[in-house]
Amino acid sequence: MAKYIFITGGVVSSLGKGISGASIGKLLQLHGFKVNMIKFDPYINVDPGTMNPYQHGEVFVTTDGAESDLDLGTYERFLDVYTSKANTNTAGDIYKTVITKERRGDYDGATVQVIPHITDEIKRRFAALKDECDISIIEIGGTVGDIEGLPFMEAARQFKLENKAEDILSIHVTLVPYIAGAHELKTKPTQHSVNKLREIGISPDIIICRTEYPLDESLKKKISLFCNVRQDCVVEAMDAASIYYIPEALYNQKVDVVVIEKLNIKPKSKFDKAWFAKIKSLGENNKIVKIAVVGKYADLKDAYKSIDESLNIAASELKAKAEVHYLGAEDKNLISKLKSYDGILVPGGFGNRGIEGKIKAITYARENKIPFFGICLGMQCSVIEAARNLAKLNDANSTEFDETTKYPVIKILDEQKNVKYRGGTMRLGNYKAEIKKNTLAHSLYKATEIEERHRHRYELNPEFVETLEKSGMTVSAYHKKVLPEIVEIKEHSFFIGVQFHPEFGSRPMKAHPIFKGFISAALKNK
Ligand code: GLN
Repeated sequence: MAKYIFITGGVVSSLGKGISGASIGKLLQLHGFKVNMIKFDPYINVDPGTMNPYQHGEVFVTTDGAESDLDLGTYERFLDVYTSKANTNTAGDIYKTVITKERRGDYDGATVQVIPHITDEIKRRFAALKDECDISIIEIGGTVGDIEGLPFMEAARQFKLENKAEDILSIHVTLVPYIAGAHELKTKPTQHSVNKLREIGISPDIIICRTEYPLDESLKKKISLFCNVRQDCVVEAMDAASIYYIPEALYNQKVDVVVIEKLNIKPKSKFDKAWFAKIKSLGENNKIVKIAVVGKYADLKDAYKSIDESLNIAASELKAKAEVHYLGAEDKNLISKLKSYDGILVPGGFGNRGIEGKIKAITYARENKIPFFGICLGMQCSVIEAARNLAKLNDANSTEFDETTKYPVIKILDEQKNVKYRGGTMRLGNYKAEIKKNTLAHSLYKATEIEERHRHRYELNPEFVETLEKSGMTVSAYHKKVLPEIVEIKEHSFFIGVQFHPEFGSRPMKAHPIFKGFISAALKNK
C-alpha cells in the first residue's frame, strides 16, 4: 500500500502546515498505520545548515547527519519516529543532483529542463519512503503562488496523474482572517488561494482553515461551494494551548474518517484514544519552574525550538510547567536578571558574539549552585569557564574565538582543519559515547553506552582533561575513548555540559533523561 498525502499552504506563511500534517499523521498512526513525513523546501540552499537562524529558525539534525528544517523535529515529536536524509529535500539539493547527472553525461545529449528533469527528481523523492510506511505525508514548504514553489506543485500534479487517484490526497492549509472593523471572518483569501492551486491543476480534497474564531456552518458552506470541496472537508483549525491538542481537535471534526475514506484504506487497529487523555494530563500542572536560556538569539524562540520543546516536555512529566525565557548573552544586566531563575541553560551556537556573557552566566551558575545545562557551544563555554576559573589557566579559550590562545581547551578537530566548504562538513548526526559509572551522566541515562546527535567542528582538547579533572571538572563520557562527550562538576547539585544535541531526542511522554534531570534539579532549587 503506497498512499500519499500532500500538504500545501496558502495566503500567508507560518500557518503551521507541519503541525497540521503531523497531527493528521498522528491520527493515522493511532489507527495503526505506519506514517512517514517528508519535507520539501523550495529554496536554493542545499540545506538550511548555512542559514542564519533569523531566516530559518533552528537547524534540526537527523540521526544520519542531515541538517534540516525544524519541521522535521515536529514530525519526530508528534510521530515518535526518527527522520533521515530522505525526509528532507530542498530545491538546491534537487538541482544539485540533476546538475551532477548532467555533468556526468547521464542525460544522453538531452536539453535538461525543469520539466521533466527537475520534476522527475522531485517525484522520485516523493516516493522515496513508500516501502517503509503505509502513508507518506509530503509537506511542500512556502505558499502557493511562490515562483520557486512551482516545480514542486507541478510535480505533485503529475504524481497524481501517474498514480491511482485514490492513492493521493491533497490538503491545503489557509488562513481565514478576522476583520475587526466588519466583525467578520473572511473567506476570500482562502478562495483566491484555492483558485491559485487549481490553476496549477491541483484540487484540494480537504481545506484546513487557520482561524482565531470558530467557523460556523454557513462559512464552511461558502468555502465548500467556492473552493469545490465537500463541506465536511472544510476543517477549522483554531489556535490551541498546546500544539499536541491539535490531533484531538481534528479528530473531533472527523478529519481522520475523511482521510481514510478518500484514500480507501482500512484502519489497521482499534483507534488508540488514550493518547489524547495522556497528552491532556501533561498540561494540567501549575507548579512553575523558571528556566533561563542564555543565547545569542534572545528574541527568537524558533532558533531554540527543540530545546524549548524538551524543557516543556520534561517539566510536564514532572508535573510542572516550564517558564522559559531567552536572555541575550550580551545583555549588560544579565547576571542580575539570572537571579530569578531556577535553572540556567546555555545552548549551542557559532561565532564570537556573546561568548563572554555566556561564560559569566556559567560562573554565576557554578558558584551559586544553580542547576546548569550546557549544550554543544554551551558545554564548550563551561569548559573554558572551568579552565579559567578553576584550573587558573588565564585566558583559556576555544580556537574558534582566539586562534592564538595559550590554552586552547577547545580546538578544531584535525579532520576539520582543511575543510573548504562550510555546508554539511561538520561532525554531524549520531555518534556513540561511553559513559563512566558513578557520574551524574550515568545516573541520568542509567546506561553506559549512548548514541546522540552532533553538529560541531570544535572539540574539548584531550590534552587538558587531566588539568580540568584535577581542578574539579570531570569528563564523564567519551567517544571511542578519545573525544570527550560529557563534562560535569561533582561539587554541585546539577552541572552538566554535553558536546551533542540531546534536545533532538525528546518526545511527549518520553522526556530526554538529561532534560528531566535538569528540570528536576531546578524544581528542587525553587
Ligand atoms: N561552534 C561550536 C563548534 O562548531 C559549537 C557548535 C554548536 O553549538 N552546535 O564546535
